[in-house]
Amino acid sequence: MRARPIVTIDGPAGAGKSTVARALARRLGFLYLDTGAIYRAVALAVSRSAELRGQVDLGAGPETLPAPDQAALGALAAGLDVRFSDSGTRVWLVGEDVSAAIRTQEIGERASWISAIPAVRAGVLDLQRRLAGEGGVGAEGRDLGTVVFPDAEAKFFLTADVASRARRRTLELQGRGEDADPVQIRAEIEGRDRRDSERTAAPLRCPEDAVRVDSSGLSVEAVVDRLASVVSSRQRS
Ligand code: C5P
Repeated sequence: MRARPIVTIDGPAGAGKSTVARALARRLGFLYLDTGAIYRAVALAVSRSAELRGQVDLGAGPETLPAPDQAALGALAAGLDVRFSDSGTRVWLVGEDVSAAIRTQEIGERASWISAIPAVRAGVLDLQRRLAGEGGVGAEGRDLGTVVFPDAEAKFFLTADVASRARRRTLELQGRGEDADPVQIRAEIEGRDRRDSERTAAPLRCPEDAVRVDSSGLSVEAVVDRLASVVSSRQRS
C-alpha cells in the first residue's frame, strides 16, 4: 500500500462528483484531480486547432473515425501541456488559464465525443498517473477505479437519479451565467450517459471493488462524511 492513498470517485455527469471530490480532498489534505477537466482541455485544444478541424471529420461518430484521424487526436492529447493549480480547480492549457472556457456545455459535449477515442484515452493516461504522483489524491472521472488507478486504496461510484443530476447541472450552468434549459440539459445528460457507458474504450462502469453511493437527496456534507469514513477505515486497516 502507498503511504498516502489514492481515492477514486467515478460516476455519471451531474452526480456531484466535482463538489464531493473537492470537499473530500480538502478535508483529507489531499490533492484534487479533476480528470474530466483534462478531457475538456483536449476538446478545447481540438476545437481551436484549425489544422485538426480541417483534417478530422468532427461530425463523424468517434468510433467510426478513420485510424489516422484517431491517431492525430491521440498525438495531440498525449503532447498537451495541461496544468492544474495547487487546489486543482484552475486549469492551464499551454500557459493559458482556460478554467472558464472548458466549462461550457459545448465543450462538455465535445469532451464526451473525444474521450470515446482509444488513442485519446491512451494519450491522457500517463498525464493522470503523473499528476497523482505518490498518492494523497482524490481523483474524479469515469474510469479511474477501473483503468487509470486499478490499485487505488479506496474507490467510489457516485450516482444520482437523472432528474437530480439535470437539476444540479442546470443550476451550475445558470450560476455561471450560461443559458440553461432544464429539458435540454436532461436530454444531453442522458445522451452523455449513453455515450460514456456504451463506448468500447473504458466505458463508464462501477468498479467491482467500489463503494456505490447514491447522492440523490443527500447533502454534499453527508456524502463527504460517508466517503471520508470509508477512507479512514481503509487507512486504519
Ligand atoms: O466530468 P466532466 O463532465 O467534466 O467530463 C467531461 C467528459 O469527459 C465526460 O462526459 C466523459 O465523456 C469524459 N471523461 C472520461 N473519463 C474521465 C473523465 C471524463 O471519459 N476519467
